[in-house]
Amino acid sequence: MTVAEPVYGKVMVIVAHPDDAEFGVAGTAGKWSRVGTQFVYVICTDGSKGTDDPELTPDILVPLRQKEQRAAAAVLGVHEVVFLGHEDGTLYPTLELRRDISRQIRIHQPDVVFCPDPTTRYSRGEYINHPDHRAAGEAALNAVFPDARNRWMYPELLAEGLPPFAVREVYLMQSLAPTVWVDIGDTIDLKLRALAEHKSQVDATQPGAADMVRGWARLNAEGQSMTYAEVFKRIVLR
Ligand SMILES: [Zn+2]
Repeated sequence: MTVAEPVYGKVMVIVAHPDDAEFGVAGTAGKWSRVGTQFVYVICTDGSKGTDDPELTPDILVPLRQKEQRAAAAVLGVHEVVFLGHEDGTLYPTLELRRDISRQIRIHQPDVVFCPDPTTRYSRGEYINHPDHRAAGEAALNAVFPDARNRWMYPELLAEGLPPFAVREVYLMQSLAPTVWVDIGDTIDLKLRALAEHKSQVDATQPGAADMVRGWARLNAEGQSMTYAEVFKRIVLR
């Protein structure tokens, strides 16, 4: 995808926490939104445990992080944000979570789903992947196939007036074996601005914060004819 990127009508990004989408896909979301692709974020958890600050109790943090996530989405031109509200830190790919994601897939009928690669356990010898990320990826893949497309999987969704829907493509984030490089040279600054909206998570006033994100994007682009990249493993379902 270094030359021509496909143009999609609708993309759904399914992640565990408010801010995961910005770290993983904001450059791509900002870039593709500019050419008319509609993005919907589905955030599986409430983000209630994402702080070490004793003042930021879950009842304060949950609405704060929703506000931050909406502000970040607005920076990127992301069309809609859906919060599934599962408890932060305790996410499992349960049938309940799979159904909740399947419901969103059937409502929004995306051409493509972006989600975490659930097989990524650790990377670069320095990072242990958050179990919520793996759970969100696992549940999202299960929702794409077979749940959302299977007529008899969740009769309650049929009763809600939501017929089966088949997603055709998946882009896995955090994959250790990416197959797609999206050049985000034109939107790396937008990505940084979106990340800066997550004030409870990212202290954008720290000079190192932007450098770290740029460093990762540069690392992603290594060996490609671009400076900054977001990378994905693409699955096209036949
Ligand atoms: Zn996260």
